Amino acid sequence: VSRPKLQAPRGTQDVLPEHAADRLALEAAARGILEGAGYARIETPAFEATELFARGVGASTDIVQKEMYTFEDAGGRSLTLRPEGTAPVCRAYLEHGMHKAPQPVKLWYLSSFFRYERAQAGRYRQFWQVGAEAIGSDDPAVDAETITLLHALLTELGVRDVALRLGSLGRPATRATYRELLVGHLRAHEDLLSDDVRERIDLNPLRAFDADHAGTRQVMASAPLLVDHLAPEDAEHFAEVRARLDVAGIDHEVDPTLVRGLDYYTRTVFEFTSGVLGAQSAVGGGGRYDGLIEQLGGPPTPGIGWAAGVERILLGAEPRPQPRALCDLYVAGTTTAAFALATEARRAGLGVQLELAGRSEKGRLKAAARAGALWTALVHDDTGAIELRDMESGEQEPVESASAVVAQVIRGRHIA
Ligand code: ATP
Ligand code: MG
Repeated sequence: VSRPKLQAPRGTQDVLPEHAADRLALEAAARGILEGAGYARIETPAFEATELFARGVGASTDIVQKEMYTFEDAGGRSLTLRPEGTAPVCRAYLEHGMHKAPQPVKLWYLSSFFRYERAQAGRYRQFWQVGAEAIGSDDPAVDAETITLLHALLTELGVRDVALRLGSLGRPATRATYRELLVGHLRAHEDLLSDDVRERIDLNPLRAFDADHAGTRQVMASAPLLVDHLAPEDAEHFAEVRARLDVAGIDHEVDPTLVRGLDYYTRTVFEFTSGVLGAQSAVGGGGRYDGLIEQLGGPPTPGIGWAAGVERILLGAEPRPQPRALCDLYVAGTTTAAFALATEARRAGLGVQLELAGRSEKGRLKAAARAGALWTALVHDDTGAIELRDMESGEQEPVESASAVVAQVIRGRHIA
């Protein structure tokens, strides 16, 4: 009977040992930059009540309309694998009373997310994001700072050909007025629009700026722009954000058509792209979401955040050389005494590998060299005698006991 070969589901991938160094470097850089700026790490559940995303991401978004992995559990609850991190973090902020802590509360995460999308290079059904959220302040310095931190992360990781686009969506009242203007414009040119855009004129007219469709693009070329209709306080806020990016030396281009995929954005929105990524050029982006916490049932609370795709960052950066695993000592023996030696050495804090394949005494030395061991303890099967070999010089001498081996390796390690 032949069984079909089992493979990882479409759009998912194994993060193999050879990818570990890059991922570790990314995590270390994110931790250094974000925790250095006072962000604390958070991890929320991989699935949430479906309603959180319906309310927190927005019913008209691609994410909610097409991309969610939603299922009913055995208890009849509707749950959804998290497609993004902002709504869960805001839920946690409320659930744990973080609004009583000094504001803004600054949180970061590195987690995997799930979207049912057309799988292609740089677009997966399970992918990782590193993200940051600053909740509880509407100061433009927060906007500029958080953008600066993402910029620093992309720079430190060597993402090539990075550009920053920035826009402002204003606040709900401004957007409502502008929205009518835009809907009017779309209605006036309805016959030129793609079906997709036409069907969603009332639901999400802003999305039309995102379209690839030629007719739609033609209509959008003459569309009214929100940046030209901002309320004075919003225009001022935007100018303050830009002034801070300027003093930080961060080049940016104002893109009045920048549309982010989530409904809850207010005021600042931004996106970093990399020129080496091809069609999926967005490495990361985010924006201000001053209405979201209230939308989730909390008190009116401003917030801003971003998320960047781990796979796209790594695709956009030069790959790093594979570092060797740290092996202080290879215990080349198969007896219980050899096992005891390995255990004692590990308890002393050494990186220890043990002969596990029953190799001949000659084969064990080769294995030790392959493991990159600094020292090898040859524990003879018959006599139990131990010899310690310095793998760099090839010098080898008898050692009395396991403790002497450990002491010698610790001394030797410090000298090196
Ligand atoms: P896109 O325009 O590429 O669909 P998005 O606007 O849906 O991106 P966000 O929700 O803002 O993306 O997510 C932030 C970042 O997460 C993106 O800039 C991208 O780097 C990454 N990302 C989003 N969706 C995926 C995916 N399906 N696979 C891999 N990375 C993704
Ligand atoms: Mg998307």
